[in-house]
Amino acid sequence: MKLKKLAILGIATIATLSLFAACGKKEGGGSGKTVGIAMPSKALERWEKDGNYMVEQLKKDGYKVDIQYAQDVVPTQVSQIENMITKGVDVILIAPIDGESLTDVVDKAEKLKIPVISYDRLIMNAKGVDYYATFDSTKVGELQGQYIVDKLDLKNAAGPFNIELFAGAPDDNNARFFYSGAMSVLKPYIESGKLVVRSKQVDFNKIAIKNWDGATAQARMDNLLSSYYSSEKLDAVLAPNDAVAMGIVSSLKGVGYGKADRPMPIITGQDAEAASVKSIISGDQTMTVFKDTKQLAGVAARMVNDILTDKKVEINDEKTYDNNKKIVPTYLIEPVAVDKDNYQAKLIDSGYLKESDIK
Ligand code: BGC
Repeated sequence: MKLKKLAILGIATIATLSLFAACGKKEGGGSGKTVGIAMPSKALERWEKDGNYMVEQLKKDGYKVDIQYAQDVVPTQVSQIENMITKGVDVILIAPIDGESLTDVVDKAEKLKIPVISYDRLIMNAKGVDYYATFDSTKVGELQGQYIVDKLDLKNAAGPFNIELFAGAPDDNNARFFYSGAMSVLKPYIESGKLVVRSKQVDFNKIAIKNWDGATAQARMDNLLSSYYSSEKLDAVLAPNDAVAMGIVSSLKGVGYGKADRPMPIITGQDAEAASVKSIISGDQTMTVFKDTKQLAGVAARMVNDILTDKKVEINDEKTYDNNKKIVPTYLIEPVAVDKDNYQAKLIDSGYLKESDIK
């Protein structure tokens, strides 16, 4: 009798365990596989958010996750990825610091048949990049440019207005897309003379800010202000992201902008970082481009799951992202312009930021 009971209990336990295993499989098919995630740095709020969302989603799908941040140091990122390969992870998601520096390590992954997904930034010169999950970076720049055009009412106003241009890190492939997107909108006004770049610095390499560093942007703005704007007023600044915008804001405030007789110029941004949203509310920075990192992390996690469960990976762009070795199949997400008028709906009501983050 006792034995029979034990046997029944045993069968029940096995049944329950296999039910759990089946459930795990059904949810995401993770079944203990490991995903490596290589992120650039924690210097920016967004990368931490991206990382946290991806870990959360992949764990829900039943995967183990090895996530590493590289403090914006390329050799650190390379060795982190090498370690992942040595440990035998099943797929690697990479947001590169320098898109041009990962060829060898991605080739290594390719040889071992480890799929690689490029995250947000494109990995160049490597055939082993299987997919790319990103935002429409040209659109990001277009939104920034269009915002300046609309706010200065360039179609109707006589002008001329003074503008200075900043771009992102020279080794970040995205930075060129942002700048060319913005220039596709601004250039006709610069050519017609309605917008004037007094410094004449329009070449990408001249205006690019290494590592997207706010302090470097602040120093460049300080120079521009003292060299070209001691008597002239600045009306707009194209800033590629929030970190750079914050440096520009500090510089402008340092010379007296932001007061009634000298209003802040229009200053663009990107990432909807809490500090910048605060700055937008207080009237210093003017706009940001919101890229819903939760959505992007969801797309990347879904790609991982589809690859590891042999499903068709969903993509929506097969022609734009040429990494010099192949056109990388991509899933693109649309960015959204956010300013004082719509931040509540886009960022707070949507749950992306908490009211307490921006108080
Ligand atoms: C990202 C931006 C970010 C920048 C600096 C770019 O590649 O797309 O969202 O602001 O890097 O980290």
